[in-house]
Amino acid sequence: MTDRHTHRVIPLQDLRPETLPLPTDALDPSLRIQPNGLLADTRGRALRDLRISVTDRCNFRCNYCMPKEIFDKDYAYLPHSALLSFEEITRLARQFIAHGVQKIRLTGGEPLLRKNLEQLVAQLAALRTLDGTPLDITLTTNGSLLVRKAQALQDAGLRRVTVSLDGLDDAVFRAMNDVDFPVADVLAGIEAARAAGLGPIKINMVVKRGTNEQEILPMARHFRGSGMVLRFIEYMDVGATNGWRMNEVMPSAEVVKLIQSELPLVALEASQPGETAQRWGYADAHGRHDPALGEIGVISSVTQAFCHSCNRARLSTEGQLYLCLFAEKGYDLRSLLRGGASDVDLANAIGHIWQARNDNYSEQRSAMPLDSGAAVKRVEMSYIGG
Ligand code: SAM
Ligand code: SF4
Ligand code: SF4
Repeated sequence: MTDRHTHRVIPLQDLRPETLPLPTDALDPSLRIQPNGLLADTRGRALRDLRISVTDRCNFRCNYCMPKEIFDKDYAYLPHSALLSFEEITRLARQFIAHGVQKIRLTGGEPLLRKNLEQLVAQLAALRTLDGTPLDITLTTNGSLLVRKAQALQDAGLRRVTVSLDGLDDAVFRAMNDVDFPVADVLAGIEAARAAGLGPIKINMVVKRGTNEQEILPMARHFRGSGMVLRFIEYMDVGATNGWRMNEVMPSAEVVKLIQSELPLVALEASQPGETAQRWGYADAHGRHDPALGEIGVISSVTQAFCHSCNRARLSTEGQLYLCLFAEKGYDLRSLLRGGASDVDLANAIGHIWQARNDNYSEQRSAMPLDSGAAVKRVEMSYIGG
């Protein structure tokens, strides 16, 4: 344990999120929003991407996400009755799709801890986007249960996965997940996902200065030419428990520079609007991108905000709609669902909530004094879904 770990500053506060009242227009039948995929928020951003947290529990205790000191045996996780059922999730997903959602990411907590998750995947895979094409369904996982689950997920209709992996060195990895989980088991999970045909696989590495930056080059070497896309994520000030400090953020520009020093890279165009990662391709001897060597991505949420193109909504484990990863409160869709709302009512509520959206936290953060986020009451990432 370093001083940084033992002296982490953790504000004492009630972590149970409060809800926001629905916009008044949402319940007025004369102000219906016709779901037609043209919905835009106050900044002109469409709704395209829905992230669904299927559990607030996890078998890891990554110190940047669910630090052991807070998420201990006494932590009050949601009771099963509070969780949205698969039917409720699917019903809501249908209304989001009516407003233009094309991509759904299942997350958590650790999504593979949710029992029979493949049944939810099958229900979502049967849905179609507004233009009649299948949804892009994916899942973010710590990989620990993939050996057991990959084939069933693929059979159910999952097409690809993102696996989080913060280093290849076993000691570093065990310390970061803080439950002594061996890296070899995650690598076996990645292999199982590949063998099941879940691809292209993305690998997410959160870079925390002073903890795992020495793993950047070994990770780059390992995944170069593997057909998998390694993405480096700046350590973010999500939630309120990880004791985030700016000096632990390694800017993506430095990550790219470090990799460039050994493995030449060329900048690539974004593959789709609203993409969070900036893409860099491995170059051949002539300085051109060599697709066989593949690419990396960098997600610079701290140093280069991308709120202007943020088309993501988040549905929490208990059915609250969050408009931003850094939101303090969400809108209670579960009450609507369980209170007898019709599909039209649900779609209308979602439409009005999105139309009034103005969130751009990361852009605002750029203008804040360093480390000023520590005292706010933001919802935890394990609850809202990363
Ligand atoms: N348990 C799954 C996993 O780890 O992949 C899914 C949920 S996790 C909250 C989703 C993603 O958020 C992971 O890739 C994780 O590394 C990332 N994450 C969590 N806390 C973060 C933080 N403070 N800064 C940056 N990324 C973070
Ligand atoms: Fe669990 Fe994922 Fe958070 Fe790590 S990042 S504690 S694996 S939810
Ligand atoms: Fe989207 Fe909020 Fe992240 Fe900005 S800070 S990109 S609005 S989730």
